[in-house]
Amino acid sequence: MHDLVNLPHSISLAVLNHLPDAIVVVNREGQPLLCNGQAKQLLHNYLTSLWQVDETSPFRILDRHHCPLTPDQLPLRRVLAGDVLENEEFILLQVGGGAVVWVAISGGPCQDTTEAAGIISVRNITRRKQQETQLHQQALHDQLTGLSNRNAFVNQVNAVLAQGRSPNSLALLFIDLDRFKEVNDNLGHGVGNELLAELGHRLRRLAPAHSLVARLGGDEFAVLLEHSDCPTQAPILASQLRDLIAQPFDLQQHDIYIDASIGIALGPAQYLHAEDWLRDADTAMYQIKNIPDSHWFVFDGALQVKQNQRLQVEMGLRQALQNGELRLHYQPIVTISTQAIHGFEALVRWQHPERGLLMPGQFIDTAEATGLIIPLGWWVLEEACRQMQAWTQAFPAMADLTISVNMSSKQFSQKNLVQRVGDTLARTGFDPHRLKIEITEGVLIDHSESIITILEQLRDMGIRLAVDDFGTGYSSLSYLHRFPFDSLKIDRSFIENADQDYEKLEILQSVVRLAWNLGLDVVAEGIETQRHYAQLKALRCELGQGYLFSRPLTPAAVEDILVNQPTLQLPNS
Ligand code: C2E
Ligand code: MG
Ligand code: MG
Repeated sequence: MHDLVNLPHSISLAVLNHLPDAIVVVNREGQPLLCNGQAKQLLHNYLTSLWQVDETSPFRILDRHHCPLTPDQLPLRRVLAGDVLENEEFILLQVGGGAVVWVAISGGPCQDTTEAAGIISVRNITRRKQQETQLHQQALHDQLTGLSNRNAFVNQVNAVLAQGRSPNSLALLFIDLDRFKEVNDNLGHGVGNELLAELGHRLRRLAPAHSLVARLGGDEFAVLLEHSDCPTQAPILASQLRDLIAQPFDLQQHDIYIDASIGIALGPAQYLHAEDWLRDADTAMYQIKNIPDSHWFVFDGALQVKQNQRLQVEMGLRQALQNGELRLHYQPIVTISTQAIHGFEALVRWQHPERGLLMPGQFIDTAEATGLIIPLGWWVLEEACRQMQAWTQAFPAMADLTISVNMSSKQFSQKNLVQRVGDTLARTGFDPHRLKIEITEGVLIDHSESIITILEQLRDMGIRLAVDDFGTGYSSLSYLHRFPFDSLKIDRSFIENADQDYEKLEILQSVVRLAWNLGLDVVAEGIETQRHYAQLKALRCELGQGYLFSRPLTPAAVEDILVNQPTLQLPNS
């Protein structure tokens, strides 16, 4: 074997040429003494580019930020000046053609030879760089539309906020598609994706050149408009965007019509973070759902007050959950013919440390909007089952009574819902046959097909299911047979007016009759007067709930009844 020092020149060259990196050795003057095949290939023999700014070279060497190097920064110069380079990234820019080659250069001065003064190795890392750029692009862009994604948009908006702008020179438009879910459900995700991609094009086309356009996720988009008069211009743009969205989409031989709601928040005055700004635009967007035929809404002072209240409720509610400030009250549900208690509905209250006892109307919407309804809902289920089981053991009269628990649409988005309900029942020892879960029609609309399986699984466990507030939502009995319900709770607005309004009475009659045909129990909500009671009795409605029988009761008041009066007596009856 040859000693490394005595290695024949041909072998040294073979070794050097075999290396994947370009190797260049230079003397003190920067003249190349040796270079391998890779170096010739990579630098096309213009090795001087590494040593001096050479106007005749087809390359310019730039730093990683694309800035040209000064002579002192050239890699070989630095090596000869005694620097050691470790995988430092540079760009070789081809003059004219503009081809970009990314290189990582390592090297240093040669100490053990008098002839050679410096050595560098140059690795072509263009592929890796391209992959990095691609990943970076993917991290910031929505694949479907090519628009910025939420992360990128938030960064861009934060950058604009950091630069500072005059008041009302910016507007953030939050766009939410109406009924997009129907497109996905009915025509498939392929068509849904095409629609989103096409929508991305439309938004980009209409939005002014300097505005930022992004897909925030799902069917939500955003535009940041920059204009000297945004209070006037933003609503104009919103109307135009909405009209453009409302034009039919011709996809896979379907003419698809969708609509949009657009919330506008003007800025930048009060905003420090993009997320706060987006939240206000989102809040403005939600107002549209309550105003018929409106398509855009501007966030204003009144909404600001509401928003602040909501934030306070949200913060308070988080603490309430931790500090055990929630309570359950129980409203009796009675058998109309006998007035005996059939069961109770568990209704949540918040014992607020400063504001006293709060009703669901004061916090349920916020809980829904913030997702806090999920932990709240689990607490309600657990507490209702625990309390019922404790009563069952203490009072014989309780043995068969049922408990109705309200569940929100948000809870049905949870994958492990069935499992958790089962666990709660097992933990508390409460009989599933005595648990009724009340859901509103909204849950059925939000979750459509996917919910049938969940409802069937709950029912297989023995749990009974009720449609709550029937008549306020979709109000169509025709779809009810598709879902495995046991009872129908007719909203109190029907009962309220049935004694004066003949038409309401007719509707009430037909709902009771149809529910019977579907094999559903009917529960009438909001029975307040003797007249209501008489009417429902005449309609042969089985169960009722209302102030006439009893208001929602504290646990102590329920115990009082259980001890003294297992059959509720109506006043004056
Ligand atoms: P709901 O489920 O329809 O509950 C019935 C509501 O009607 C209760 O209001 C009850 O107090 C009220 N009510 C009962 N009888 C009468 C009557 O004769 N006249 C009048 N005017 N009202 C009557 P509450 O307790 O304020 O609850 C309001 C809503 O809040 C509930 O409507 C339900 O949607 C929601 N909610 C209450 N507790 C929970 C809960 O634990 N989880 C969820 N997700 N929602 C809940
Ligand atoms: Mg209810
Ligand atoms: Mg109800």
